[in-house]
Amino acid sequence: MEGVNQSLTPEPGSLYVVATPIGNLADLTERARSLLEKVSFVACEDTRVSGGMLSKLGIKNRLVSYHDKNERTMAISIADRLANGESVALISDAGTPAVSDPGFRLTRQCHVLSIPVIPVPGPCAATTILSASGLPSDGFLFVGFLPPKSAARKRFLESHIDSPYTIILYESCHRIEKLMAEMLEILGPDRFVCIGRELTKRFESITTGALASVAETFKTSSKKGEFAVVIAPRKFVL
Ligand code: SAM
Repeated sequence: MEGVNQSLTPEPGSLYVVATPIGNLADLTERARSLLEKVSFVACEDTRVSGGMLSKLGIKNRLVSYHDKNERTMAISIADRLANGESVALISDAGTPAVSDPGFRLTRQCHVLSIPVIPVPGPCAATTILSASGLPSDGFLFVGFLPPKSAARKRFLESHIDSPYTIILYESCHRIEKLMAEMLEILGPDRFVCIGRELTKRFESITTGALASVAETFKTSSKKGEFAVVIAPRKFVL
C-alpha cells in the first residue's frame, strides 16, 4: 500500500525536496510534477529560471526565492510556514537540491523542528555521468566544485592521487580546460577519466579513456555548456 511519503498529494506541514531535470524536461518524474502542482508554494533558487522551467512543463504555482544569499533567513521563515501547516517543494535551478546547490540549511532547520523532510528523487548530474562513465561505480567520492584557485585545485588532486574511490566533480565551462591541464600534470596521462558535457541535452557528449587521449579529443571539441568529470581510482585499468 502507498505510504504517506509516497503519495502524489502533499501532506500539510511537509517539505518535499524535489529533483528537476538537468536538461531534458521529459526527465521530470510523475511524482515531482504532481507535488510541484499541489504544494502551497515552491521554494527555488532563481524565480526567473524556475518560472521558465515550470511554465515549459505546464506547472503553475507560487514561487518563493531561496538562494545562497538569503538561505539563513529564508530557512527559518520557510520552516515557520511549514510548522503552520503549509506544504513546500524545494527545487534548485536544475537537478537535485542541496547537491552543490542551496538546500542544506532548510532541511536541517526542518529536522530541528521535527518537520517531515521527504525526498523526491530524480536527475543529478553526478549520478548521471557516473552511471554512464564505464568507470568503477561501487564506491565514489563526490566533491562538487573544486576551489577556483589553481594552487588549491592542484593540492586537492595531489592529495587524492591514490584515491581508492572513483571521484566525481563539477566544473564550469570557464575552467574546464584549466582542469584538464591540471589533471594531466598531477594525475598523469594514464589515469582513466570520463568527461560528461551537456548531459541529457541535445549536444550531450561523454568521453572516456586515459587522460592523454581524452585531453587530445578535448582539444578539438566544444568547451561550451556544463561539465561533470569522473576520475577513476589510480589502480583502474581497462
Ligand atoms: N544540483 C545539481 C545536480 O543535481 O547535479 C548541480 C548543481 S551545480 C550548481 C551545477 C553544475 O552541475 C554544473 O556547473 C555542472 O558541473 C553540473 N551539471 C549540471 N547539469 C549538467 C549537465 N546537464 N551536464 C553536465 N554537467 C551538469
